[in-house]
Amino acid sequence: MKNNKPLIILGETILPGQSKTIDMEIAKLHNAAKLKIPVIIQRSKIAGPTVLFSAGIHGDEINGIEIVRQIISKKINRPKRGTIICIPIINMFGYINMSRQFPDGRDLNRVFPGTKKGSLASRFAYHVITEILPHIDYAVDFHAGGASRFNAPQLRIIPDNEELKLLADIFNAPFTLFSKNIAGTFRNSCQKTNVKMLLFEGGKSSDINDAVAQSGIEGVKRFLSFLSMLDPKHDVQYKETDSIYINKSTWLRAKYSGMLHDHNKIGEFVKKGDVLATITDPFGKFEQKVKAPNDGYIINANHSPIVYQGDAVYHITKSLYNEPK
Ligand SMILES: [Zn+2]
Repeated sequence: MKNNKPLIILGETILPGQSKTIDMEIAKLHNAAKLKIPVIIQRSKIAGPTVLFSAGIHGDEINGIEIVRQIISKKINRPKRGTIICIPIINMFGYINMSRQFPDGRDLNRVFPGTKKGSLASRFAYHVITEILPHIDYAVDFHAGGASRFNAPQLRIIPDNEELKLLADIFNAPFTLFSKNIAGTFRNSCQKTNVKMLLFEGGKSSDINDAVAQSGIEGVKRFLSFLSMLDPKHDVQYKETDSIYINKSTWLRAKYSGMLHDHNKIGEFVKKGDVLATITDPFGKFEQKVKAPNDGYIINANHSPIVYQGDAVYHITKSLYNEPK
């Protein structure tokens, strides 16, 4: 089916078959320099859905940005049909400052849908919601774990939504976590406007991890292939194992302050009592084992060399969706 409809985004017209980079400008930097947020749009001549790949809502989650960068550099964003929009960095202020938040400390992912005259972060959210989101059918938003906390590649979707579950099956990340939407998140706004959005989490902030990026890219190709949007020159790899769906998970917290020696069990299934790490003092006096509280998969590990008592050290699954009861 031929598509003759022009797409108008941020006042610019993109015709079918065209590609365009539009610089979204919301506010200047404090030295009066212009701050551009590139929105990269690629359209096929053939009609089809519109997919958004976005990252950098948290400015220091570089791994998500890397995945969207690879989608563009590998030309995965040239659709066989429909339209693909890439925004590698939404929170450009945070990216420049190498920080999760906006300069005033606000978390962009808590101020959606935003307001026209609100805080800087709120204005960003408002622009994304009013200028971009109305054109979108599907979205994948890429994130990474906070601080030193390394996430095994995983999708986050709300429970009891068959459409999203099917898309998560297709994307087939190693793990899929059922989690409710938090008010103010981009994901929540997508849900309310009927945009089918998958949230990808992988790796840790201020880091690039090739295996995590690869996991994201492979999922994106399966996702686009399912929508008949992937250019056939790209190979799609289908995995033999299905994503592990997680109903419930828990954080294991450090019982002691000290140096953390992680035994690198990320992504693995561990048994109750298995030693995941040791915590020591710096003086060679004490060594304490960190043991798994239950059987489960380790989906996040703290990679900080130093922890305080009460710090989250591991995220472990407690109940799986497809577990025999
Ligand atoms: Zn994030």
